Amino acid sequence: MALKPISRIAANVQASTTLAIDALFKQMKAEGKDVVGFGAGEPDFPTPEHIKQAGIDAIENNFTKYTPAAGLMELREAACFRLKEDFNLDYAPNQIVVASGAKHSVFITLMTLCNPGDEVVIAAPYWVSYSEMVQQAGAVPVIVAADESADFKITAAQLDAAITEKTKVFMLNSPCNPTGMVYTRAELEAIAEVCCRHNIYVIADEIYCNLVYDDCEFVSFASLSEDAKARTIIVNGVSKSYAMTGWRIGYTASNPDLAKVMASYLSHSTSAPSTISQHAAIVALRGPQEDMQVMKEAFEKRRNHLVERMNRIEGVSCIKPQGAFYVMMNMKSFIGKTMYGKVIENAEDFAHLFLEKGLVATVPCTAFAAPGFLRWSYATSLQEINKGLDRLESFIKNA
Ligand code: PMP
Repeated sequence: MALKPISRIAANVQASTTLAIDALFKQMKAEGKDVVGFGAGEPDFPTPEHIKQAGIDAIENNFTKYTPAAGLMELREAACFRLKEDFNLDYAPNQIVVASGAKHSVFITLMTLCNPGDEVVIAAPYWVSYSEMVQQAGAVPVIVAADESADFKITAAQLDAAITEKTKVFMLNSPCNPTGMVYTRAELEAIAEVCCRHNIYVIADEIYCNLVYDDCEFVSFASLSEDAKARTIIVNGVSKSYAMTGWRIGYTASNPDLAKVMASYLSHSTSAPSTISQHAAIVALRGPQEDMQVMKEAFEKRRNHLVERMNRIEGVSCIKPQGAFYVMMNMKSFIGKTMYGKVIENAEDFAHLFLEKGLVATVPCTAFAAPGFLRWSYATSLQEINKGLDRLESFIKNA
């Protein structure tokens, strides 16, 4: 007898479109091929020593039991301390909910806010998980996209035009994955005016807040006004700032009523994340911030080099992003051309061929609402960056 169909929502979850390239990359690596990877969405640095030690100490001191579902009080206080220190924002611990990574924080926020059929406007290009998570919450993603000529940043007018009576939430990620772009204070103010006027919530994914370069100012959405703060759910965490992607600690800062519901939601699903990771995260947020500065300076140097060299290569180009650790390579000049006997129809074709023939893995951005672009992560050494660019040059030259 055929089994009954599974959940419609679960059945509709799309496997990551970047998975095929990633699988091929891993297979080639396992076969001993000298492939270079620019796909990683995580710092290549190890977690700083004093943070690792805090994890070890937590085990030694038997901090290995359950914590409250919203996270340890000391960790919620540490998150408040950072929000005050970095953005002059006042939050109390009952407004902070710790979850298993910033991704999980976005997920529980959407589960808390959305009813079936609610619309969630997503500023695009966007991190591919957003639209999937919106659908998992039973809501409908509405994509508002900006192209390269607009620095990949949507305008308040575009947002305004996309809002309907069904709109519940606007999702913003600045600095942005995949574009690396950072919204200015003026741009955010205009966006906040629209969100307040239409009375919609804002999920502000600020996970890359510490990774901004040049003299670019990072502005936290909640700092724009009291009205903006009341409707904003800040998503942050330790993954990117402190090279702690594997520790799985994210958090939200929101109004206390929402925070309470999110904590209840967690209490019946994952409960709090690992107690050991929570202890390490307290030290990350409260402790010396110098290691973070060192990583940031290394990222900035790599970005400068990558952007400068990439723009000297015939046929490709990129704009200079001010944040995160990603660059969007425009490969549109190759669309319709034949390379290595194959007609290039899109960024996926180019990325596959570049991996097969050029031995370099990148991420095609069609699924991020940026067709014609490949995302390069520069969370890798200058040596690897040069190797990748040398290979790009010969890949194009020999095609
Ligand atoms: N938000 C964005 C924009 C990201 O790029 C990522 C990581 N790729 C996350 C959230 C998730 O972070 P975490 O590892 O803490 O779940």
